[in-house]
Order: sequence, then structure tokens, then C-alpha cells
Amino acid sequence: MMGNIGLYIHIPFCRQKCLYCDFPSWAGQEDQMQRYVDALTKEIRNRSREYSDRTVVSVFF
Ligand code: SF4
Repeated sequence: MMGNIGLYIHIPFCRQKCLYCDFPSWAGQEDQMQRYVDALTKEIRNRSREYSDRTVVSVFF
């Protein structure tokens, strides 16, 4: 029996890049947002088939 899972969805767009930040994130890339959302939507759709026997109990952005 498969268990519950949690999701982490990374949003890499920031108003400015903090000096201490190690996350893959960028400022000034707003023109890429729609492309990212489209790719993320596609990825979620594909993964949902792969994990259809799991229950998502948390989503962290
Ligand atoms: S810590 Fe990193 S991800 Fe968070 S707001 Fe600053 S640059 Fe963006």
C-alpha cells in the first residue's frame, strides 16, 4: 500500500535576489513566468499519472 506524499513546488521568481540565498531563483525574469507556469502545469499533469495511487496531504510553495 502506497503512502501519503507532500509536494514542493518551486517558484523561482523574486523581486530581487537576496545576498544569502542559495535557492535557484532570479530577479528580472518576469518575461519567463508564463512559460514556467505552462511547464509546471505540464509537469504536474504528467506526475499525477505516475503517483495516481498516492494521496497528496501537503503542498509547499
Ligand atoms: S531568499 Fe531567495 S528565494 Fe527567498 S526572496 Fe530572497 S532571493 Fe528569493
